[in-house]
Amino acid sequence: MNTKVYFTPGPSELYPTVPVHMHTAMEDKIGSISHRSKQFQEIYAKAESGLRELLQLPDEYEVFFVASATEIWERAIQNNVQRESFHLVNGSFSKRFYETAAELGRETRQHEAPFGQGFDVQRISVPSSAELIALIQNETSSGACMPVDEINQFREKAAADALIYVDAVSSLPYPAFDFAKVDSVYFSVQKCFGLPAGLGVWLVNDRCMAKARSMQESGTSIGSYHTLPALLEKALASQTVETPNVLNIYLLGKVLEDMNRKGVETIRSETEAKATQIYTYLERSAVFSPAVENPKHRSKTTIVANSTISSAEVNKQLAAFDMQVGSGYGKYKEAQIRIANFPTHSPEQVEKLVSKLEELFG
Ligand SMILES: *Cc1c(COP(=O)(O)O)cnc(C)c1O
Repeated sequence: MNTKVYFTPGPSELYPTVPVHMHTAMEDKIGSISHRSKQFQEIYAKAESGLRELLQLPDEYEVFFVASATEIWERAIQNNVQRESFHLVNGSFSKRFYETAAELGRETRQHEAPFGQGFDVQRISVPSSAELIALIQNETSSGACMPVDEINQFREKAAADALIYVDAVSSLPYPAFDFAKVDSVYFSVQKCFGLPAGLGVWLVNDRCMAKARSMQESGTSIGSYHTLPALLEKALASQTVETPNVLNIYLLGKVLEDMNRKGVETIRSETEAKATQIYTYLERSAVFSPAVENPKHRSKTTIVANSTISSAEVNKQLAAFDMQVGSGYGKYKEAQIRIANFPTHSPEQVEKLVSKLEELFG
């Protein structure tokens, strides 16, 4: 039996109630029911309403279930960009969205910040021809974040009909977005929702829907089965186009119920308290230091530290105490560690990790 606690930045430790829900799902044979049945429609509706409650999502937003956040990058470009998108890039995930747009033949422009840094938003000018502005709330590869007050400045910088997209894959539900200031937010469930991977959630407003329809009417291809109009048609009947990941939609609905019972404000304040504890340790540590210099741009949910000992050695020693942190990303694999601080990680678990790190490495 594996009794390790995973502080890896996704997949990560499962939300504590998942094993019980998984057990019920097996007893109720959720894996065998038809995705056209009334039972599935109820499962779908529960997940959707749970999410609307947790995020306080306005009515003009739709909730769509797809395969992954990676899929959403591709669908976003196909459905919402006729010619040109503009991307803020400061790490591997934001870069990948930019590359996806180029691979789909769009004109792409980017504003780049060095790996491990946030953006100087005041100095960014958005091209008036950009139809989609890609922001990244939490760059999981580097641990740099974009606070909501910075995200909210883009509506005024962009053309009136430009769509503002926010990658919140490794932070939601922590950031309290002003949904009127953005047009689409997306995430996948194996990060902060503490579920097995294989489900992406795409929130879009009526402006994204209208743009997809007008592209379609003008004769532009907006893809095949996962076009926004096709997703909406099925979503209105609490269904999906294809046979979906029913088990994960079920588990999401259950975990959302648990999270709503706890309350999003409690989740957010716990996240901040645990992050403070981790950063305070990193600041005084002899071997680790926060990788993101500006405290305002330090992620609260994926905390990255420079390390004078290799991440492999850190994890080798932590393994004896049933804990694992993430290695650095890409070329920082050994020189950095990444610590997930997700809603599943209890204050007690974080406390134990920090004191063990301090005991082992100083
Ligand atoms: C993990 C991650 C993705 C990709 O998510 P998938 O579910 O693997 O497609 C995208 N953006 C960010 C910031 C991520 O952390």
